[in-house]
Amino acid sequence: PIPLNDLDMSAIIDIRRRAQSAFKTKKFQESLSLYTESLTRFSTDPIAFIERAIVFARLNYPALVLCDAQRALRIFESIGGDEQYLILAYNADQSSTDHQIPGAAAKQYRDETYTNICFCHASALRNLHLYNESIPWYEKCSSRATSDAERQQLNLHIQNIKQHKSGGSLDSTNRYPWDIYNKRKNDPAALLSNIKSTIESGSYLTVKKIEIYSSDEQPQFGIFTTKQTARSQPVFTEMHTLCVHSAVSPVCDHCNADLWDDPFRCPRCSTAYCDQNCRMAAQNLYHDQLCTKDISVLTRDINSASSTKSLIPLQILKLFAISITTGIHPLDQPLVRNLAHITFERGLHRPYSLQSLDNYTAIIDILDLRQFRSDFDYWIYLTLENLLVSNIFAHKTSEGVPWKAYIFPHIAMFNHSCTPNASLSMEGIETKIVASSILQPGDEVVISYIDNMARVEERQKILLHGWGFVCRCAKCIREGAI
Ligand SMILES: [Zn+2]
Ligand SMILES: [Zn+2]
Ligand SMILES: [Zn+2]
Repeated sequence: PIPLNDLDMSAIIDIRRRAQSAFKTKKFQESLSLYTESLTRFSTDPIAFIERAIVFARLNYPALVLCDAQRALRIFESIGGDEQYLILAYNADQSSTDHQIPGAAAKQYRDETYTNICFCHASALRNLHLYNESIPWYEKCSSRATSDAERQQLNLHIQNIKQHKSGGSLDSTNRYPWDIYNKRKNDPAALLSNIKSTIESGSYLTVKKIEIYSSDEQPQFGIFTTKQTARSQPVFTEMHTLCVHSAVSPVCDHCNADLWDDPFRCPRCSTAYCDQNCRMAAQNLYHDQLCTKDISVLTRDINSASSTKSLIPLQILKLFAISITTGIHPLDQPLVRNLAHITFERGLHRPYSLQSLDNYTAIIDILDLRQFRSDFDYWIYLTLENLLVSNIFAHKTSEGVPWKAYIFPHIAMFNHSCTPNASLSMEGIETKIVASSILQPGDEVVISYIDNMARVEERQKILLHGWGFVCRCAKCIREGAI
């Protein structure tokens, strides 16, 4: 924990007072930033987390309510009998500068805080449609109720919840902060020039704005060839990046290449690499943050997982480590900055699993980010998860175990078609986009994200759920999907 006498309490009290008054006047975004700032300064204050959780609740972000409630609980349990923390938190909360609060008031304050923590857990889980998980928390609230009326109300709640079926999801109507972030960051002109500069240099490709593929407000780009290209000629090549792997077969920890008998190893933790180049690249980008760290909590379930999405937390671990090394915000990393995120259309739910919060907490612990840092807040983890889910490329072993995964920040920009004119070809540590028919100048280069032999209803469903868009390609139109 932060040494308490290093805290500038009068500044913290001022920020908290402004956060509370912004909340009272329903300026929730402003209140949120102020609580975040207060937590950056005094990050072991359970009450600030709980009050921020309540702001998240008003903004309709139940997953973030749950995360802050869980953090408050962890702090609350770890400070246990430390009255000094409670007095400081009480003072920050009440804008008071007393150094003593009466014992009875302290006890009452602690009890109320704990009840609030339980209630935030209960209501967040219910809003995530995790009904069964919410019941024990409502029961805790009920057992701590201070009046019969309150207890009856909570018990009625529990009865209602028991009639619901469980199944975690985020409502599509919830506008998570990533929407705001993406709007701010993805200035279409800047995005276009960014993509143009990397895709067009050294290739015969040009990037243009298109209108046809999506109905959402994000600008859409297509990548077109400027040169006639024969069948099976490569049009674009990209190195594998953000490589991660499970432990089923030895591969280089930096580039995922297969390893032979005597790989190059990190002298401290014996992580294996192809050669000194891969080791140095890893070292300079992220390995210092991860060397000798135990990451088994993130990897132990991969062998029994059926989906390669189980490798995503390892990618986020590397991204967070890169951010610590480079000082660049995780969402501004060139690797992920331009990736398209899924925007679910109305009526669709984004599945939500409590595993996300467990993985996030594990990553924060591995990287020793227990001290709150807003650059590594939970919504950033969720945003990255959302970006990677639709952009991950991964392999399974022949037994179906998730094995290795990577992303291609630029290949990810190529659009989908159910009648593609190009396909991916993986060779060693790079992947090529290869023409699968003769390309004429001005043709858009399109690849298929899915099995394009599937029936049209099936294709539409997979694309909508996996990538969040309605395919309007010629084949889908011809087969009557639109
Ligand atoms: Zn390598
Ligand atoms: Zn090492
Ligand atoms: Zn289609």
